[in-house]
Amino acid sequence: MTDCIFCKIAAKQIPSKTVYEDDDVIVFHDINPAAPVHLLIVPKLHVPSLAECSDQHQALLGKMMLLAPKLAAEQGCGYVTNGDGTGSGGFKTLFNTGPDGGQEVYHLHLHVIGGPRPWRGQR
Ligand code: 5GP
Ligand code: ZN
Repeated sequence: MTDCIFCKIAAKQIPSKTVYEDDDVIVFHDINPAAPVHLLIVPKLHVPSLAECSDQHQALLGKMMLLAPKLAAEQGCGYVTNGDGTGSGGFKTLFNTGPDGGQEVYHLHLHVIGGPRPWRGQR
């Protein structure tokens, strides 16, 4: 998509603070972070929203979800579990979908939001 900001970031036409990249995804810091750590996991393929994903995107979505805890840990906000429902740290994962879902950029992305609270807006 020529006029999509995340396609432009993936194509390096717009700079970003990239923390991870491979053939399928690029991950960078949100420009307006809601918490001490706020990453966006963005597929290089242009898909407008989660509601427009289908079976062909299953592996991509799984990859995005599994990247979240790894990158959160690398950024210092991983969930350190004792294995019994207690632990420390942690992060939120979020797909905003459509106008009532609060989606602003219509290129699929997974927010990874974490770090010590309080967070802006506590969301
Ligand atoms: P949405 O509301 O669509 O789920 O979230 C879009 C996110 O993209 C917002 O949190 C916003 O701050 C972030 N964002 C928008 N434009 C840019 C940009 O040019 N660079 C970066 N790094 N983040 C952006
Ligand atoms: Zn795009």
